[in-house]
Amino acid sequence: MNNAQRAAESALVNELRLTLARLELALAQISDGLVITDANGQLLWCNARFEEFLNKPRLLVLGQPLQLLLQSRLESPQVRVAGDHLFCLDIGQGGSVTTVMRREPLQVMQIDWQPVTSEQPPPFIFSLRDISDQISLEELRLRSQELVDQQLALAEQVVTCPVTGLPNRRGLSRAITEALQQLDGHQGWLALLFCDLNRFKEVNDSYGHRVGDQLLIELSRRMSQVLRHGDVLARLGGDEFVLLCTELAEPEQALRIAERLQDEVSQPWTPAGADGSLEILPQVSIGIALCQDSQHSADQLLHDADLAMYEAKALQERHIVVFDEAINAKLQRRVQLRETLQQTLRHRQLEMQFQPVVRLATADVVGYEALIRPRDCGGMPIPPLDFISVAEASGLISSLGQLVLHRSLSAARTLKLTDHGLALAVNISTQQLFKAGIAEELIAAAARFGVPTALLSIEITEDALIEQPQRTHAELAALRRAGFRVLLDDFGIGYSSLTWLADMPIDGLKIDHSFTATMVEDRRRRSLVAAILGLARDLQIDVIAEGIETCDQWRLLQDMGCELGQGYLFSHPLLASQIDQDPSALLPAAC
Ligand code: C2E
Ligand code: MG
Ligand code: MG
Repeated sequence: MNNAQRAAESALVNELRLTLARLELALAQISDGLVITDANGQLLWCNARFEEFLNKPRLLVLGQPLQLLLQSRLESPQVRVAGDHLFCLDIGQGGSVTTVMRREPLQVMQIDWQPVTSEQPPPFIFSLRDISDQISLEELRLRSQELVDQQLALAEQVVTCPVTGLPNRRGLSRAITEALQQLDGHQGWLALLFCDLNRFKEVNDSYGHRVGDQLLIELSRRMSQVLRHGDVLARLGGDEFVLLCTELAEPEQALRIAERLQDEVSQPWTPAGADGSLEILPQVSIGIALCQDSQHSADQLLHDADLAMYEAKALQERHIVVFDEAINAKLQRRVQLRETLQQTLRHRQLEMQFQPVVRLATADVVGYEALIRPRDCGGMPIPPLDFISVAEASGLISSLGQLVLHRSLSAARTLKLTDHGLALAVNISTQQLFKAGIAEELIAAAARFGVPTALLSIEITEDALIEQPQRTHAELAALRRAGFRVLLDDFGIGYSSLTWLADMPIDGLKIDHSFTATMVEDRRRRSLVAAILGLARDLQIDVIAEGIETCDQWRLLQDMGCELGQGYLFSHPLLASQIDQDPSALLPAAC
C-alpha cells in the first residue's frame, strides 16, 4: 500500500468513526429503547435509552441474554399481554408483545422485534416503547386475562410427558375416566398400579439430573414390557409412574402384574457412558387400587393407589400393597393424630406421667422415667408410640421432644427429685438423637431447671444403633461427655449386634418387658435374660428390667442378679401430683 492509499484509508476510517458517533448520538435521542441481539438473543448492542431502562451500564449487559434481562424487570409473568412468545424467546418469526414492567408507577411497554434477514444467522432488532399513557389498566387486565386463558387452553392440550413420551397426569386421568365408563355392564376389574421409585432422589443427587432422566426413560421402557393390550402406562412427574390395567379377571391378576413390573424394573442398570463398575439397582414400590364399577372417580382411585404406595414404601421387602378400608382408616387416624399433635404443640399442653424405677433388693425408688400421655380432642388417651411415630413422620419430633423435656424437667424441679438424689430418665427418639445440637439443647435445658446432668438419663432405642452406628456412637459419646447417663431401651427386641453393644458408649440397658413377661415360664427366654445380665456385668453397665408385674418375676430377676427394675408390681406411671416427695420403699403388698 502506498502513502496516498494509506492516507485515503485513514480518512475513511475517521469518516466511519464520526458517522458511528453521530448515529449513536441520534439513537440516544429517540424515546424508544433499541437493542440488537444475535440469533440466540444475546445482546450485541443497545442505545442509551435501553441502558436507562435497565438502569445498568451497557458494558455490564452486553453478551447477556435479553430474555433474562427483561424477565428480571417483569412485574409478574401473568401480565404479559398479547400474542407472541417473547419470553420463551421463540424469536424466529419476529413479533410484538405488550408487557408490564416493574416500576413505580407501573410501566407498560410495547416490545417489537424482527430479524435482519440479510444476515445468516439473522441478528434481531428490538424496540421497546413506553405506552403507559395509551392503555388503561382495565384494558390491560382484560388483555392479560385473555392471554392467561389462551395459555391455559394450550396447556390443557398437552397430555404427554416430554422426557419419556408417556401420557402425563392429564392424559392418564382421561384414560381412567374412559375406562371407568366402560366398566358398567362389563365383567372384570380395573386396576391402577401406582409405582414410585425407591431412593430416586439419591440417583439425582449423586449422578446428576441427566442420569436421572436417562434412568426414567429406561424404566418407562422396562415397564412398557409388562403392558397388555389396552393397558396405559403414564408418568405423573418425578419418579411416579402409573399403570392402568383394564379387564382383569380377578384382583390377584393385578398383584401378578405388579410382581412382573418389579422384576423388570429391578434389573441392574448402568448409565450410558459410565464405566461398567457403576451399577444402579432400581427398586419400585407399588400401591394398587381396584374397582369393578364406575362409582369411583379417576381422582379418588389415583388417591387410593397413592396411599397404598406409601404403605408399600414402609414395608421391609416386597413393596406391594393393595388399597383397602383398613389402610384408609389408618390414614384418617394419622391425619387426626397430626392435628392433635399440632394443637398440643401450639398450646404447649401435654400431660406427662412418671414411673418409679426401683432397686429390686429393697424396692427403694432410685428415679423416675418420664412418659408422655397424649390425649385426643375428646380426651381419649392416644398410645404414646402412635403419637411419636406421627411426630417423626411429620417432622415435628424435635418440637415434641423439647416440650417433653421441659415438662419433665419442670416436674423434677417441683418434686425436688435431685434433692433426694433421684434420677430422671427421658426417652429420646432416634430422629431427635440425630438432630444437630441435641447435646447442647439437653445441657441448656438441664441447667435451666437446675437438674445436674449426672441425674438425667437419656433413653434411646436400638433403631439408632442399627440405622447409623457410627453417628450414634459419636452422639452418645457427646452426651456422656456432658455428664448425662445413656440407657439403651427395649433391649433384646431389635436387631442390634452384640459387637456394637460392646463398643457403644452406654451406661446401662433396659431389658424389654416382653422378656420379663415370659421368663418365668419360658426357659429359653430365661437363658437369654441370664446372658444379657452376664454381658452387662462384663461390660460394667447397669441393667434395668422393664415390665415387672408379678412377685415371681421380681424374685427370679433378683436371683439372677438384676439390680434395678420398673413395672406395675411396684407402681404404674403416676402424674407428678400423685408422687410422694419423700417416697418410702414400694414393697408390693401381694408378695
Ligand atoms: P418405654 O420407654 O419402654 O416405656 C415403658 C413402657 O412400658 C411405658 O409404656 C410404660 O407405661 C409401660 N410399662 C410400665 N410398666 C409396665 C408393666 O409392668 N407392664 C407393661 N406391660 N408395661 C409397662 P408407654 O407409656 O405406653 O410408652 C410406650 C413407649 O413410648 C415407651 O416405651 C417409649 O418408647 C415411648 N415414649 C413414651 N414417652 C416418650 C417420650 O417422651 N419421648 C419418646 N421419644 N418416646 C416416648
Ligand atoms: Mg423408656
Ligand atoms: Mg422400654
